[in-house]
Amino acid sequence: MSSDNIIKCLIIGSGPAGYTAGIYAARADLKPIMYTGMQPGGQLTITTEVENYPGYPKGTQGPEMMEDFKAQAERFGTDIRFGYVNKVDFSGPIHKVWVDETTELHAHTVIIATGASAKWLGLPSEQRLNGFGVSACAVCDGFFFKGQDVAIVGAGDTAAEEATYLAKLCKKVYMIVRRGEMRASKAMQNRVLNTPNIEVLWDSETEEILGEKGVSGARIKNLKTGEVKNINVTGFFVAIGHTPNTAIFKDWIDMDEQGYIKAVPGTSKTNVKGVFAVGDAADKVYRQAVTAAGTGCMGALDAERYLAEIGIH
Ligand code: NDP
Repeated sequence: MSSDNIIKCLIIGSGPAGYTAGIYAARADLKPIMYTGMQPGGQLTITTEVENYPGYPKGTQGPEMMEDFKAQAERFGTDIRFGYVNKVDFSGPIHKVWVDETTELHAHTVIIATGASAKWLGLPSEQRLNGFGVSACAVCDGFFFKGQDVAIVGAGDTAAEEATYLAKLCKKVYMIVRRGEMRASKAMQNRVLNTPNIEVLWDSETEEILGEKGVSGARIKNLKTGEVKNINVTGFFVAIGHTPNTAIFKDWIDMDEQGYIKAVPGTSKTNVKGVFAVGDAADKVYRQAVTAAGTGCMGALDAERYLAEIGIH
């Protein structure tokens, strides 16, 4: 492959991080090519109202916001292509990437913006009411349930943190925990247990989320006693963990035990020169559209500096 065919900047993934990387990389004349993955726009395309993204004072819809991001990336020349990257080889200075198992691409820099996927319980009612009272992000959607009763499933740090967040906004929070103990850190557990309007339902499983056009309740089974009861809630939050979409990089890129990419703190740099990680693929703590967009910008700036260092103009 002649050097003319080597892509200066290849972006994998099309959420807020990927599109922002596209905007910055295109404006810096890196002629970025982006592969969208199977869900162009990423996790925001499965949410409804977004009210916490700066610049949208009246709020916007997640899918529309991603269309805006896309249009802005395209305006400066980002070449956005539908396709799924399924294999990479980062062994040499030129990075190899395969799209849809057939097309082999070569790139000087790669920005990984593949995001993460929320884990779900797998109930049909959860799928049907997703975006209509069912959510995997309390920080994004909790506000819509101000003064109401809600439930949250999970017992890790995220669930504990989100339960206390919801408790400040909502009248009552049921926390549905499948075992007799929580996985969350002791400090987080204590916060939950000391919050008067959180009721922990121990040893409990959700059988069904109730409601037709929106959530009206949930049927909960106590796994110890077998007792089944309905709780009346209008919001149902699932906080049972996320899976970063990073499996194809694991032979090359340093990750933690859950698969989140380890970027050099304060940068988007990975252990491989010329490969940068941005957005939720490298962030298990904040996971917001605005933080993802911020790191997307960092990825493009880091790629630009790296290209200058190796003399690619
Ligand atoms: P975790 O994997 O730590 O916890 C997932 C929780 O969901 C567990 O309690 C698990 O139960 C429960 N769960 C899983 N599947 C089901 C199911 N089908 N039904 C009911 N419950 C289920 O995920 P988190 O998102 O909480 O945290 C991910 C990582 O991020 C952790 O390392 C955490 O410490 C970190 N984090 C740190 C924060 C901070 O420092 N401020 C904030 C948020 C996250 P069980 O325990 O029974 O397996």
